[in-house]
Amino acid sequence: MDRYAAEREEMVQRQLQSRGIKDGRVLDAMRKVPRHLFVSRNQEIRSYWDCPLGIGLGQTISQPYIVALMCEALELSENSECLEIGSGSGYAAAVMSELCRHVITIERIPELAELAKANLKNAGYSNVEVHCSDGSLGHSRKAPYDAIAVAAGAPAMPKSLKAQLRTGGRLIVPVGRSHNYQDLLRIRRLSDDDFLTENLGGVAFVPLVGEEGWVDPT
Ligand code: SAH
Repeated sequence: MDRYAAEREEMVQRQLQSRGIKDGRVLDAMRKVPRHLFVSRNQEIRSYWDCPLGIGLGQTISQPYIVALMCEALELSENSECLEIGSGSGYAAAVMSELCRHVITIERIPELAELAKANLKNAGYSNVEVHCSDGSLGHSRKAPYDAIAVAAGAPAMPKSLKAQLRTGGRLIVPVGRSHNYQDLLRIRRLSDDDFLTENLGGVAFVPLVGEEGWVDPT
């Protein structure tokens, strides 16, 4: 227990359960992961607020509800091998790692890949691997995956990520023609060639920048 345990419980009840998150494993993971160890010092007081927070370099740690929604939609189990694109602070990877066997998370900005590594180590997570590369292409070396979460908005469905799903696997990705507003899609691989796509609703993620994402603005 830490001094934020009561705030986390309140976050779980007011932000997650009240909005329909039901998966008990997801709720327990959100109760457990110390989000305050993944935000910058000057934001610590806001760690459990109902909003995203800046983590530097124009990027954000996602709102708790969005992390829980994505984890629930991914249908993670203890044996799942997972891939996350967009490590940022490392928080979502920590939550996912509570719910599955192993997480590989990819970040394109070297400073943030280092930040995610340091935060995950500091919080005691050892079943998460952080890599610095263009995650719009996935991470073919360890494919296929049971679950893939993309934490940045793509202009169109990244084909490489679909191809790295195991049959039966789930991919959650925000897709939209605008830089900062997307539809959160769940793609389920039914067989080699059949995919089922569901729209889980409107979201606002920072852009996925890369070969199968947006062009680098710099
Ligand atoms: N999951 C994070 C939030 C991520 S914000 C957390 O819990 O804190 C989105 C992240 O995606 C940013 O850090 C951004 O740099 C990264 N990103 C954008 N395009 C990317 C790409 N092609 N490959 C890997 N990371 C990317």
